[in-house]
Amino acid sequence: EAYNNASKHIAVLAFPFGTHAAPLLSLTRQLSDACPDAVFSFLSTQQSNTSTFPMKVDKIKPFNVRDGLPKEYMFKGNPHEPVEYFVKAVPGNFTEVLDEVVAKTGKSIDCLITDAFYAFGADIADELNVPWVALWTAGPRTLFVHMDTDFIRQQVGINGPQDKTLDFLPEFSAIRVADLPGITCGDFDAGYPVLLHKMRLALSRAAAIAANSYEDLDNTVVNMLKLRFNRYLNVGPFNLVSSSTDDDSHDCLDWLSKHEPASVVYISFGTVMMPPPEELQALCEALEESEFPFLWSFRGSPENELSSGFLERTSSKGKIVPWAPQQKILEHPSVGVFVSHGGWNSVLESICGGVPMIFRPFFGDQGLNTRTVEAIWGFGLELEGGTLTRGGAMKALKLTLCSEQGKQMRDKTRLEKELAYTQ
Ligand code: UDP
Repeated sequence: EAYNNASKHIAVLAFPFGTHAAPLLSLTRQLSDACPDAVFSFLSTQQSNTSTFPMKVDKIKPFNVRDGLPKEYMFKGNPHEPVEYFVKAVPGNFTEVLDEVVAKTGKSIDCLITDAFYAFGADIADELNVPWVALWTAGPRTLFVHMDTDFIRQQVGINGPQDKTLDFLPEFSAIRVADLPGITCGDFDAGYPVLLHKMRLALSRAAAIAANSYEDLDNTVVNMLKLRFNRYLNVGPFNLVSSSTDDDSHDCLDWLSKHEPASVVYISFGTVMMPPPEELQALCEALEESEFPFLWSFRGSPENELSSGFLERTSSKGKIVPWAPQQKILEHPSVGVFVSHGGWNSVLESICGGVPMIFRPFFGDQGLNTRTVEAIWGFGLELEGGTLTRGGAMKALKLTLCSEQGKQMRDKTRLEKELAYTQ
């Protein structure tokens, strides 16, 4: 029925891994509010739709596409594996569902919006003779290095020295090869690298590229991107306009209210990663010894995965929950520092809360985000050696929470917060 009365039908194709689908849904909701007589078909895998659609949204209809996993597939902990299977199933899994939706509703597609990873969006849009809008869900710097991958490979070599800096690119002299999102090493013929390669070639065909960022953040890099594309539009940060993760069933906000301003350590490594056991152990020791109050969004079973007795010994200092309303938490005045993996959404949310960050990056854009925040923006720092050790974590916590340098970081984050809010 929503389709019968709609003036326009917009198809939205999500990338179902990490936190990609949620910002795309956020953009779709904003567009739906702006064009109330349009209907949106939102395509992702069942698992992704189940977690990103917390409630029914009137004019946005979710449709499930095949995830490409073999029948007896069992997830054994490698987050790249399901991505590789999924990448083999595109674009067929999307086009078959699009055809079905159009056949069933009789409503042809007027515009295609996809995650920027999907170069095939350009082909589908051409075939349908409609515009293609690509959403870039990471930071501008990450897009820049993806677009310039061939040049970067020429300059630094394949599998070259990790500490070489990118001083041959304007604005990148503080970035090292080690910080890059795996574009100079590994198997370039695997599904995901090929997906990104195709993206590089296709993005200039997009009618517009929408980015989850704002004009003043990394402005020089943003301006370099604008020279390359038809329309490069900063339409974020999305967390300022809509939030899908407000669920506070574990009373985190109430708990935070019982603490001093800027005193609590908030910990979350995003929706994909967890540090290995020895690093969890190191973080526990650092928290226990430093005695800072902490709030930890812990994926998994803290009883089984954290050292025995830790939960009991720290029950008066710490709170561990399976899911936290992260944006609201970072906006709470009691939070003093965010220990994070450096996902782009987390970086934006930390900026919008005015909270400095400590990073333990794992893969993808996390290393580049980490280095950018630390060396260029100056309101966070990477753990010594890049991983969690007892000593390194203690040092980073003390520095951010109790030192003059930490105070300066907080001031810088707050300035950045003001910029984000005035966009
Ligand atoms: N998040 C949340 N509560 C949690 C853990 C994560 O709301 O307990 C949200 C967080 O606010 C952010 C997203 O999950 O929007 C994580 O995105 P990010 O890009 O940082 O990391 P990814 O999940 O892609 O690794």
